[in-house]
Amino acid sequence: MVNRTKLGLGTKAIHVGSHPDPTTGAVIPPLSLSTTFKQADVGDFAYEYSRSNNPTRERFETALAAVENGRHALTFASGSAATATVLNMLEPGSHILSINDVYGGTYRYFTKVANNMRITVDFIELVDSSTITQHIKPNTKLIWIETPTNPTLKIVDIAAISSVAHQHNLLVVVDNTFMSPVFQTPLDLGADMVIHSITKFINGHSDVVMGAVVLRDDDLNDRLRFLQNSIGAIPSPFDCYQAHRGLKTLHLRMKQHEINALAIATALEESPYVERVIYPGLESHPQHDIAKRQMRGFGGMLSFYIKGDEQNARKFLRSSELFSLAESLGGVESLAELPSKMTHGSVSPADRAKLGITDTLIRLSAGIEDTADLVDDVLNALELSQNL
Ligand SMILES: *Cc1c(COP(=O)(O)O)cnc(C)c1O
Repeated sequence: MVNRTKLGLGTKAIHVGSHPDPTTGAVIPPLSLSTTFKQADVGDFAYEYSRSNNPTRERFETALAAVENGRHALTFASGSAATATVLNMLEPGSHILSINDVYGGTYRYFTKVANNMRITVDFIELVDSSTITQHIKPNTKLIWIETPTNPTLKIVDIAAISSVAHQHNLLVVVDNTFMSPVFQTPLDLGADMVIHSITKFINGHSDVVMGAVVLRDDDLNDRLRFLQNSIGAIPSPFDCYQAHRGLKTLHLRMKQHEINALAIATALEESPYVERVIYPGLESHPQHDIAKRQMRGFGGMLSFYIKGDEQNARKFLRSSELFSLAESLGGVESLAELPSKMTHGSVSPADRAKLGITDTLIRLSAGIEDTADLVDDVLNALELSQNL
């Protein structure tokens, strides 16, 4: 008999939450679009109303909890809705410590929406975990980590931060969008909650916007379920169906994303048209050792500083034939962007300068195309980038 507690991620992604339909035997359970469910007697039901719970959503949430080594998973209409719902757990007047180069939308929510609930946030350099104690206040409730960060791919030591946080009774939330559970499972490193933009690697096909929270604690889960239903920022059953299908190939896709990212990073490092490459899998990455310790792979995201100025960066982005110039990441197709003008355009110039987000910094999301084709395309676009 298969040991169900020890199944690998690929097996869990394919089997957990995907039992064949008992009435028809359909190997792929049907998409359940019904908004309401007939009750056998008043209050006698498995499902009541689709905002509260839905069979298709529940199956996906079950699979997601399994692959992140959590006990519960809750899905939301977007990664941003997941963030907003978690913030709604906090009392007015609470304080948050957040990594300084947090996802732009999270930064916007913290500074322009959560402040209306009298929630304050300090953005700090979490890379050195020994410095966080000095930032903890009596009303600090939560530490918000993203690792690797976006777009400069700094690595935060999740275990070290979690151990300090728990001495002070703080919750640790890790946005695990960039690594996916294939390469990093923060709950195993001591984090209390994992956030995902399912939109990215987990769905993986750039056709669903969705978010999730995964956790182990039953009480926190009850509070979040209550908010998921009360606020109602839930995903559609169709999107859950699509994302669940995406999850089933996540382990295969992540391998290829990583092979491609490493090959591109290596080629970029050797190019005379590149100032510096940032990829956690390179020995040259300042936190390569922490990356090796807490991650099982280095992912599909990389950034580099092109030689020249913004015009050279733009020429590169226009010249690539396989990397679409677009926001977002984590799809099967390769994407490239200029963070200073696109994803991080709303970060103040002073903060951008502090974080190293210059006009020559280019972010790549390596897709799962053939490796040699992507490397050729990048080298070709680099060559062209220097002829303005
Ligand atoms: C995209 C993204 C989000 C926000 O998710 P949406 O689904 O776009 O709302 C949050 N965190 C990270 C790291 C992301 O890349």
